[in-house]
Amino acid sequence: SAFSNFGKYGGNAQGLNEYSPQGVKPVKAALVALIRNDDLYGMRQAIRELEDRWNHKYNYPYIFLNDKPFTSEFKQGIRDLTKAQVQFGILEPGTWGYPSWIDQEKAKKERETADYIKGHSESYRFMCRFQSGFVHKHPLLRDLEFYWRIEPDVHYYCDIDYDPFLYMKKNELKYGWNIAPDEYEPTVRTLWNTTKDFMQKNPQMIAKKNLLDWVSNPDGTYTKCHFWSNFEIVDLSLYRSPQYQAFFDHLDKAGGFFYERWGDAPIHSLAVAMFLQKSQVHYFDDIGYYHPAMSHCPKGSKTSGKCVCDPEKGWSNDFGCAKRWRSVS
Ligand code: GDP
Ligand code: MN
Repeated sequence: SAFSNFGKYGGNAQGLNEYSPQGVKPVKAALVALIRNDDLYGMRQAIRELEDRWNHKYNYPYIFLNDKPFTSEFKQGIRDLTKAQVQFGILEPGTWGYPSWIDQEKAKKERETADYIKGHSESYRFMCRFQSGFVHKHPLLRDLEFYWRIEPDVHYYCDIDYDPFLYMKKNELKYGWNIAPDEYEPTVRTLWNTTKDFMQKNPQMIAKKNLLDWVSNPDGTYTKCHFWSNFEIVDLSLYRSPQYQAFFDHLDKAGGFFYERWGDAPIHSLAVAMFLQKSQVHYFDDIGYYHPAMSHCPKGSKTSGKCVCDPEKGWSNDFGCAKRWRSVS
């Protein structure tokens, strides 16, 4: 089973030696969330589990970002849960809201007529644009090599007995994921055409060995497959690369964050598909995870004693896009 791979990078003596928490932190990395003050209790739940399952041994720092100042209640409520360093930051000017070229009347019309989830929300669109184009540029993340995105109201079901950051760094992995659904069409009506336009204009930016077969059907249409980015562990050099910046600028100019409701998940995933090859992308099958609506429970975890989820329910490897992932090379 997939779970028998587990010993290779953790959970046994050999794994612990290689990826042990002893000594200096081997990777410049942090757990990062964009978050509202109102999400304090959902985030406390997530941190409590992350600490108990993993970070009490590793003490990676946390970084929280907000478009509004954090309250002292929020800061204290987080700090109470960890001995790791915690930093709180406010967003940089220009990274939240509308860029100058957006027709705000047109954006408003879309919000009023949209009948998809969060379709009516303006702030949700600011959030998706920020997570797509700006989070990796925030001054608090400047020195980081990797980030692990965290969100309120998630669960971490299993012990994690190794350092996923170090695992990624040692294996030259750039992107780590664990759930891959397909996107809801009305939110990304023109995203694929806009991406194809980008590729036509910038063929030299596309990796020779790439993962476009994961996002593109044999007939050239969009599979809408994406990594669910509420969990992602990323080598930030991916998002800081000139090709990623060019891709984001191209999308931002097209306006689909506002004229539709493009999410950061399909955008990060399209970037992975264009700029990386499969050996640089890792499926964290061993990280049991729940975010409202979907979950991943490692196969075989029933007997390991490490997970509290039911592996008969919610194995993300059964999803169509995960199957497709296994078939691409
Ligand atoms: P979903 O996962 O797509 O349902 O979206 P969420 O509501 O969970 O939002 C994703 C992340 O962005 C969460 O960490 C939220 O706390 C955060 N977020 C969403 N909207 C806002 C906002 O308006 N301001 C701030 N500061 N954070 C936000
Ligand atoms: Mn969420």
